[in-house]
Amino acid sequence: MQIKNYINGELLAPVDGSYIDNIDPSRGKVYSEIPRSNSGDLQTAVAGAKEAFRDWSTASIEARSRVLLKISEGIEARMDDLVAAESKDNGKPLSLARKVDIPRAAANFRFFANAIVNFSSQAHVMEDVAVNYTRRAPLGVVGCISPWNLPLYLFTWKIAPALAMGNCVIAKPSELTPMTAFLLSEICIEAGLPKGVLNIVHGFGYEIGEEIVKHPDIKAISFTGGTQTGKIIASITGPMFKKASLELGGKNPAIILEDCEFDHTVKEMVRASFSNQGEICLCASRIFVQRSIYNKFRDAFVAEVAKLKVSNPEDETTNLGALVSEAHLNKVQGYVDLAKSEGGTILQGGNRKFLEGEYSEGYYFEPTVIEGLSNSCRTNQEEIFGPVVTLMPFDTVEEAVELGNDTTYGLAATIWTTNLKLAHNIGHQIQAGIIWINTWLLRDLRTPFGGMKSSGVGREGGEEALRFFSEPQNICVKL
Ligand code: NAD
Repeated sequence: MQIKNYINGELLAPVDGSYIDNIDPSRGKVYSEIPRSNSGDLQTAVAGAKEAFRDWSTASIEARSRVLLKISEGIEARMDDLVAAESKDNGKPLSLARKVDIPRAAANFRFFANAIVNFSSQAHVMEDVAVNYTRRAPLGVVGCISPWNLPLYLFTWKIAPALAMGNCVIAKPSELTPMTAFLLSEICIEAGLPKGVLNIVHGFGYEIGEEIVKHPDIKAISFTGGTQTGKIIASITGPMFKKASLELGGKNPAIILEDCEFDHTVKEMVRASFSNQGEICLCASRIFVQRSIYNKFRDAFVAEVAKLKVSNPEDETTNLGALVSEAHLNKVQGYVDLAKSEGGTILQGGNRKFLEGEYSEGYYFEPTVIEGLSNSCRTNQEEIFGPVVTLMPFDTVEEAVELGNDTTYGLAATIWTTNLKLAHNIGHQIQAGIIWINTWLLRDLRTPFGGMKSSGVGREGGEEALRFFSEPQNICVKL
C-alpha cells in the first residue's frame, strides 16, 4: 500500500515518485510505503495554504469550530481503523491505542473547537485617557512537526489549535508512524475542511522536515521530538526570527517518600515507567526512593514489573508491545549494556524478547529495572526513551530535590507522599514544567504543557497554544 500526501485538498503522490518503506515493528516487516516528499511537494502545499488563508482566517469562529467538531466526530467514527493503524505503525498494544491515543486525538479537536469559541483577549484601560485592547490575529501558514511515540495524539495536539486560531497548516508526522496522519487526511476531506487549510506532507525529517522549518512563508514551527533535533530547528528559526514552540526530551525524576501510600505508589510507578513501552516523554526514568523504604519498594516494584506481559500488540492481554524500530531497540539495548559497564545491577529484564511465529522478527524488549548507579552516570543523564528505569536511594528531601534537578532536562516529575504540604514544597523546587503529586499522566487539556531547560521552549495546551498560534497586537485608542 502506498499512502499519499494531503495537499490543497487532494490526496497526491509525491512529485518525484519517491517512497520510503514503512515497517510494522511488531513483525519487523515492511507493510507500506510513504511519500519521500521534497521541496516541490512543499511549494504546492504552501501555495495552497496561502490561498486558503484568506477565507479561513476571516471565517467566523463558529464556522471554524463546526468543522473542527466534525473532524473530531470523524475520528470517533473511524475509531477501529485508526486504532489498528496506530498499533501497527508504532508497535503499541491495540488496547492502549483504543484507550488513550485515538480518543485523545478526537478530544484534541473537540477541545480546541470549544476553546476558540470561549477564547478572549485582554483590554487595558487607562482611566479617562485611553483604552488598549489586544488583538490576536492568526500568524498565516504554520508548520507542525511531530514524533512517533503518540503519533495521532501529538499531531492533532498541534494542528487543532493552529486551525482553531485561523491559521493554515503544513504538517509532517514522523516517517516511522505516518498511517493515522494519512487517515486523518481522509477524515478532513469527509468533514468538509476547505482545501489548503491543512496540508500533510510525509517524508524524512532531515529532508522535508527541515524544508518546512526553513520555508520563508511558514511563519511559525510547533515541534515535538528529540532535543538534538530541537537544537537544529532552533538554529534555523532563531536567525529567521521565526516563532518556535519546542517540546523536547526528558529524564524525569520520581521522588518517593517514606510516608507514601505504598501500594498505590508501586502500582502507579509501574504505569509511569512502562506505559507505551516507556516511549512517552513524560515516563518516569530516574526513581528516587527514601532509604527507609528502599528495599521494600524495590522488591514490590520488581515483583510487579515481572508480571508485565511483553507480547504482540494484537493480544488484548499485552502490557508492552514492540519498540518502534530496530534502531531504537538497538539504542535501548545499548543503554542497558552501558548501565552494566557503569556498575549497574539489572534487577529485572535487560534483554530483547523474541516471540514466536509471525512476530519472531519484531522489536520487543523486556521492561528493565536497574539499581546501583550514581545519578551522574550517562545512563542516568541521557534520555533512553524505552522500557528502562533506574532506582536510587536518598536520605533527605533536600538530597532528593538536588538529585531530581541534577539533569539538563526539565520536563516532568512525580512526587509520592501523603504529606501534601511537603509535596507542594518539593514541587516548587523541582525544575520541571509538569509536576504530578501522587499520580501520573492525569491531563486537563486547559493546563500549560511543556518543559524547562533542555526539555523545550514554550508551552502547549489550552490558551497557551492559542496564544502561540497568534500574534498579539496592541491597539491604543485615545479617549
Ligand atoms: P525526532 O526529533 O527524531 O523526530 C521528531 C520529528 O521531527 C519527526 O517528524 C522527524 O521526521 C522530524 N525531524 C527530524 N529531523 C528534523 C529536522 N532536521 N528538521 C525538521 N524536522 C525533523 O524525535 P522522535 O525520535 O520522533 O521522538 C522521540 C523524541 O521526542 C524523544 O526525545 C521524546 O522525549 C520526544 N518527545 C517529547 C514530547 C514532549 O511533549 N516534550 C512528546 C513526545 C516525544
